[in-house]
Amino acid sequence: MPEALLSTHGLNAHYGDFQALFGVDINIHAGEVIAIIGANGAGKTTLMRSITGLLANRPDMVTYRNTPIGALRADQVARTGIAMVPEGRQLFQSLSVEENLIIGGQIGRKGPWELEKVFRLFPILKERRAVPSTALSGGQQQMVAIGRALMSNPELILFDEISLGLAPIIIKSIYEVLPDIIGEGMSAVIVEQDIAKALSVAGRVYCMQEGRISLEGRSNELTREQISAAYFGV
Ligand code: ATP
Repeated sequence: MPEALLSTHGLNAHYGDFQALFGVDINIHAGEVIAIIGANGAGKTTLMRSITGLLANRPDMVTYRNTPIGALRADQVARTGIAMVPEGRQLFQSLSVEENLIIGGQIGRKGPWELEKVFRLFPILKERRAVPSTALSGGQQQMVAIGRALMSNPELILFDEISLGLAPIIIKSIYEVLPDIIGEGMSAVIVEQDIAKALSVAGRVYCMQEGRISLEGRSNELTREQISAAYFGV
């Protein structure tokens, strides 16, 4: 295996006295798509927050291209080339679609992703560019959240609970554009509760349970029984 693009090393995370992650080790290689699966409260979002600087860590608990980034702030992490599509979209509600997208471009790096390219990926957003983000459907808001992350021209994009709360037809259309996004050499982490969806796009999968990695393997090699045991603890 080549050297990892991003690694966590014995990553712990706390909310006050509560410990949410216990010694998590994951690796993502350049060009790889991995999935993180696990039940509610397993620690998936906490892991994403720890990687993206929303939760502070020891510097060496997260490395990106062998550089310690565990203690960087979220804006500094964004400039290294990591972007997140957060759970619940978290758009700027008072701003239009276009303004939300432009903000993504301002916090990241320069590169091929700019407004017109996002509009080609999601044409409905061009039609609705001047509309406040609150006036959009959940699926359209998810498109803006993805577009905003792409505008920062990441090398690594993290999708937290990508299909949560969306209608099946919207989930299908979001999953249909993922290969276009990832095909441009980006690496991706997909956090999903829908195991089948996760396995369909990711080459490798990590399962989390109670703040720990309970299983790791290649999507096409793990058995249903192994995944159930790691996911539900049965
Ligand atoms: P979900 O799918 O429900 O988001 P998850 O796997 O992403 O689940 P986390 O949100 O990372 O799990 O939560 C992991 C643990 O940390 C849970 O026990 C949760 O209650 C706790 N937790 C999460 N956020 C906070 C917080 N802000 N303050 C205190 N505890 C928290």
